[in-house]
Amino acid sequence: MAEIIDGRTIAKELRTAVSQQTERLAQVGVKAGLAVILVGDDPASQIYVRNKERAAKKVGVVAETLHYPTTVTQAELLTKIDYLNQNPTVDAILVQSPLPAHINEETIQAAISPAKDVDGFHPENIGRLFAGRNEFYPVANTPRGVMTMLAHEGVSLDGKNAVVIGRSILVGRPMFALLAKAGATVSLLHRGTPSALKRQLVQAADIVVVAAGHPNLLKGEDIKPGAVVIDVGINRMDDGSLVGDVDFQAVSQLASKITPVPGGVGPMTIATLLETTVELAARHHGIELEQGWQNI
Ligand code: NAD
Repeated sequence: MAEIIDGRTIAKELRTAVSQQTERLAQVGVKAGLAVILVGDDPASQIYVRNKERAAKKVGVVAETLHYPTTVTQAELLTKIDYLNQNPTVDAILVQSPLPAHINEETIQAAISPAKDVDGFHPENIGRLFAGRNEFYPVANTPRGVMTMLAHEGVSLDGKNAVVIGRSILVGRPMFALLAKAGATVSLLHRGTPSALKRQLVQAADIVVVAAGHPNLLKGEDIKPGAVVIDVGINRMDDGSLVGDVDFQAVSQLASKITPVPGGVGPMTIATLLETTVELAARHHGIELEQGWQNI
């Protein structure tokens, strides 16, 4: 029976570490500032943004949400982002996805200063990640949170065989880059991977990260006994319940460690966003944070 990786507890430890660093910043008169741009009335987006704002306040990050109606123009958003880029009290900027169809999300992401791009979606930051030169720039928070979980659980990656299922720019691709940088040999699987090849690669993997958005995609018989399984998927079922991409009952019989849904990767994403915000604030103001404070 697999050991369950408790994302809620790890996220709480990370938030405590973030609070300690915001106190350190406060001692030299700096408040970490996060600006969130929200467009429209999508209920899910509103909940996400509210959760981010609340979590930020709890750890001493000043969060401000700029809420625009769906009718806002791309030019208006670009002007606001330019203002936030220049504003010394803003250390981190994020634009809540999705944006209305008349606004080009890539153009908006590319307008954010790479030094304030807390989500790590700016093309320069994605390039830095793949070049292994991202030390001082942000990386997408969900895959970074997975790396924190693996480190927290003492899962070594050097020389390991890892598989990532899903190749989105939000999760799968940065996950691939981070695992490879940490020393794993990584296969990036996607919808077009032939099923026989998929079976073979997953069966041989020491670590499987699933981020496809498909309930029960990973089944018990798919994995190698003892594999570490990380379920990034979030799927809302007809009865309102949340499930991941992994058949938890069956896979947890064989895996050595597994993340549940809910309570696994999900809570790590916001905690990591706050971690990144504090790092950006420290760099922005030229302040040294405690060495290795993120190693919870
Ligand atoms: P996406 O739809 O952009 O990408 C899905 C990827 O999975 C694609 O690359 C696709 O090719 C691949 N895929 C789909 N079906 C597949 C199959 N049968 N076999 C192999 N590959 C397959 O989604 P995303 O934004 O990367 O999100 C993926 C999942 O992770 C979603 O459920 C999303 O809700 C969840 N998510 C969770 C968090 C979190 O904080 N826990 C954050 C982001 C996304």
